[in-house]
Amino acid sequence: MKIDAGRLCRELDELATFSDAPAPAVTRVVFTEQDRLARDYLKRLCRAAGLVIREDAVGNTFARWVGREPELPAVATGSHFDAIPNAGRYDGTLGVLGGLEAIRALQAAGKSPRRSLELLMFTSEEPTRFGIGCLGSRLLSGSLDAEAGERLRDREGVTLNQARADYAGGLSSVKLTPGHYHAFVELHIEQGPLLERAGIGLGVVTAIAAPASLRVTIDGVGGHAGAVLMPERRDAFLAGAELALAVEAAALSTGSIDTVGTAGLCQVFPGAVNSVPSRCYLELDIRDIDEARRDRVLVSIATASEQIAARRQVAIRTEVINADPPARCAPMVVEALVASCEALGWPHQRMISRAYHDSLFLSLVAPTAMLFVPCRDGVSHRPDEYASPEDMARGVRVLAHALAALAS
Ligand SMILES: [Zn+2]
Repeated sequence: MKIDAGRLCRELDELATFSDAPAPAVTRVVFTEQDRLARDYLKRLCRAAGLVIREDAVGNTFARWVGREPELPAVATGSHFDAIPNAGRYDGTLGVLGGLEAIRALQAAGKSPRRSLELLMFTSEEPTRFGIGCLGSRLLSGSLDAEAGERLRDREGVTLNQARADYAGGLSSVKLTPGHYHAFVELHIEQGPLLERAGIGLGVVTAIAAPASLRVTIDGVGGHAGAVLMPERRDAFLAGAELALAVEAAALSTGSIDTVGTAGLCQVFPGAVNSVPSRCYLELDIRDIDEARRDRVLVSIATASEQIAARRQVAIRTEVINADPPARCAPMVVEALVASCEALGWPHQRMISRAYHDSLFLSLVAPTAMLFVPCRDGVSHRPDEYASPEDMARGVRVLAHALAALAS
């Protein structure tokens, strides 16, 4: 079986030209003109490979190589092709074009799989436009219900229903029934430095961490920075600063390297050097691969926030935006990937995914695992994101091997 790494790189480069940012940056936001052009390009490539295309009501695109027993649940691979503002060209797209390359390699090798093989191209993995990540795969898995989907709007007030007008049908038609797929595998760049540091070309993902995202609004009392005496202050920002430190302490307190907590956004009102902050707005992100442990961190943060509010006499309001369960990958799919690495004689490492992916949601309806390849310096979501042709081709080869085994 031969992987055409040159063709894969050319197609990744060509896909990167569908961008609202000048090269080497890529910006491709769901349901914009560049997103539409990228979809047309990908569908052209799939049709040229003889794949049968279906699109659902939210624009998730399915390209199927029909197997010898088409009534059996298919084996699927794929990823996303949207890109956050000023991103690179490999995040998601490797799983789409690499998945297509794996299918083409199997075709060229004269394989004829028993189960159909399907390439999935997910709509809007990135939360750029509608504020929610993994939009397409959430709807496929039913973890976002159709009614909540209908209520989504972008910052300009355009509803998801208006934006997806090219696609017929209600959002409730998107959900897949469990058993629809025999297995799902997502090939992705690692977006972290571990494989590169270890000098290992392949990572088999055994679990995917999931974020809990919180919005916190703290109301204190503002005033003149000279006139309000220190013992009388009810400074909203200082309460927020304490809360940010409490997030760090709670994440560290589990003793596990897999627990992480971040206060990545902090806004202070009114935001003047001579004014005591009256309001502070924070966004928090807590992740783990162990849901119970992550949820204990959330409880610690809630307790800390009550104590801070009482001591500093401020009001703290917390809203949970999402608290998705982490996923354990399916042993059957993990072992198929491990067996492929071993059959091809390539070293691999079992690892967890600290970023979340469409696979997190696919795992709710299909046996799922992921395959990582290294990216330079672990850099992602930046224009200088890079994966070498050799590393990508190795990943595609293992993917093709595993797909063939799962579909046989
Ligand atoms: Zn991605």
